[in-house]
Amino acid sequence: MSAKLIKGTEIREQILEEITSEVAEIKEKHGVVPGLVTILVGENPASISYVTLKIKTAHRVGFKEIQDTQSETISEEDLLALIDKYNKDESINGILVQLPLPKHVDDKKVLNAIDPDKDVDGFHPVNVGRLMIGGDEVKFPPCTPAGIQEMIVRAGVETKGAEVVVVGRSNIVGKPIANMMLQKGPGANATVTIVHTGTKDLAAHCQRADILIVAAGVPDLVKPEWIKPGACVIDVGVNRVGEKISEKTGKKIAILKGDVDFDAAKEIAGSITPVPGGVGPMTITMLMLNTLKSLKFKLGIA
Ligand code: NAP
Repeated sequence: MSAKLIKGTEIREQILEEITSEVAEIKEKHGVVPGLVTILVGENPASISYVTLKIKTAHRVGFKEIQDTQSETISEEDLLALIDKYNKDESINGILVQLPLPKHVDDKKVLNAIDPDKDVDGFHPVNVGRLMIGGDEVKFPPCTPAGIQEMIVRAGVETKGAEVVVVGRSNIVGKPIANMMLQKGPGANATVTIVHTGTKDLAAHCQRADILIVAAGVPDLVKPEWIKPGACVIDVGVNRVGEKISEKTGKKIAILKGDVDFDAAKEIAGSITPVPGGVGPMTITMLMLNTLKSLKFKLGIA
């Protein structure tokens, strides 16, 4: 293997340690800790496991954490009233509504009801707008793109003047990471191209990339010959391609694959993220960072 492996699991540990010590410092100086509430509606097993991990991580770094579980049958009105309650709660700095929501609830209406100053997921239109403007306007960059940028920076990859190609234009990954990489500032200042299913020659664009960010949700979409020798390859894709028995627990677990043909790509790229263990662990980490930032904004110390 020639490429340097960019491990999200290792970067996560560094950042969580940094957050833990900052939380302890703020607690000592200001007598408060960041508060995060996760609102879970219903019993979707995947949602339960995501929320549990978020709450566990919040607990680990010293936050006040609340897991608010509501019945599948909660009305939209009651859910909006719940959000209003946490919007007004001085001890809560971050509100996260776990998606998907039941069909009878308008998820856009619910997400837009979150106070933008507590929208640590960064999905509220106000925060999307702030991200677009860039610079000091940005409060909460969405967690997965923020994690991607952090990995690129911590891996020591030069972004200024780099050709960045983003595969995928979703609102949660492709569009925001493209926007972040083109801003004038550290960890960005790149020349950015976004490609998608309407793009004529995907391979030709990818071949130009100094930094190739792939978020398509198609296993092995990116072939080794699409990668520029020495490029930094960030594989956001998480595709379930089968099941296996875990050696650790003896239980059935999903076999995960990224959007990049990793085994071949690692011989050509300069640095690359694995799947699993790459971008995945960064998302919750950045959620913690956004929640800490929210309290710091409130205290005027950000
Ligand atoms: P999405 O909403 O389905 O968007 C996929 C994007 O990829 C679309 O813009 C689509 O183009 C484009 N695309 C799909 N197939 C393509 C192809 N053959 N050629 C070119 N472009 C193609 O997906 P997403 O939410 O952004 O997620 C993408 C992947 O990242 C998924 O595997 C997801 O599980 C993973 N993910 C991981 C994390 C994490 O690790 N924390 C977080 C979020 C997402 P069109 O717009 O033209 O349809």
